[in-house]
Amino acid sequence: MSKLAESIVSTVMLKCGVRVLNGEEVSEYAELVDAELAKGLVIPMLLWCPECGARHVDEGEFATKKHHTHACQSCGHCWRPAIVATCGVRFLPGFKND
Ligand SMILES: [Zn+2]
Repeated sequence: MSKLAESIVSTVMLKCGVRVLNGEEVSEYAELVDAELAKGLVIPMLLWCPECGARHVDEGEFATKKHHTHACQSCGHCWRPAIVATCGVRFLPGFKND
């Protein structure tokens, strides 16, 4: 199990502080998560908050960590720009080196 899958699984498993999956379900879910992570791509995107219009650039751990939901640093609004994992970037790859 990858570290990322492990953290996703433990979060789901301990939803609301209650263990919601049994041992077998945990390993099945971990496999599924790992498979999704392996085939998935993080799509670099230019993102703006749909609520307040602030530019959204993923920095630090979020720049490399795959995620779907983005939280605006200005107003706190959360949104999903796409069905796949996305990363808010300053420049699209190939347009300018960061
Ligand atoms: Zn915002």
